[in-house]
Amino acid sequence: MGISSQILGEKVVRLAESDTEKTVVEAEKLDPTFLRKILRHPGGEQILVCFQCGVCSSSCPLRLINPEYNPRKIVKKAILGMKDQVLSSDFVWFCADCNACTERCPQGVNPSEVMKAIKNVAIEEGIVPAAVKKIVENLEEHGRLYPLEDFNQEEREMLDLPELEPDVKVFKIDRKKLLGDKT
Ligand code: SF4
Ligand code: SF4
Repeated sequence: MGISSQILGEKVVRLAESDTEKTVVEAEKLDPTFLRKILRHPGGEQILVCFQCGVCSSSCPLRLINPEYNPRKIVKKAILGMKDQVLSSDFVWFCADCNACTERCPQGVNPSEVMKAIKNVAIEEGIVPAAVKKIVENLEEHGRLYPLEDFNQEEREMLDLPELEPDVKVFKIDRKKLLGDKT
């Protein structure tokens, strides 16, 4: 049992077990251009120095919520060129950008930045999860991540705060740039 297991108990033991699941690499489906694209994007430059220690995964708070989320595996799959597997999953979009992995990675890979580089590649490929599209639409229409509801205004009133305009057009959204050409 590792140090994390001793601190957090059974929950982390379960995470360690889930990490032993095997991933099948289908050579004919590997796409070497995927790695090249990641390397070209800001944040993806250091991906190749990853030596698969797993510190990023053991540091990641998201894994306590979803044990299937595994930044070490995402980095490995990206290096191998497993484009279909990486981009067909929403996992890279789960990253909360907390930087716990980046602060602890002994190789300076910057895993949180690698996630951003992969997301940018996904956008170029026109692969954007519906939830992300909705956020962009909300910003475009309401100037906020979500539209204001009566509840929000009532809460503000209770706190003696002034009512907010429901829609504020503070963002000029370039949908093509944010969501890619194919969306
Ligand atoms: S901590 Fe860094 S070197 Fe270790 S697996 Fe994660 S990205 Fe790779
Ligand atoms: S930045 Fe993302 S991958 Fe890294 S620890 Fe935080 S949530 Fe996990």
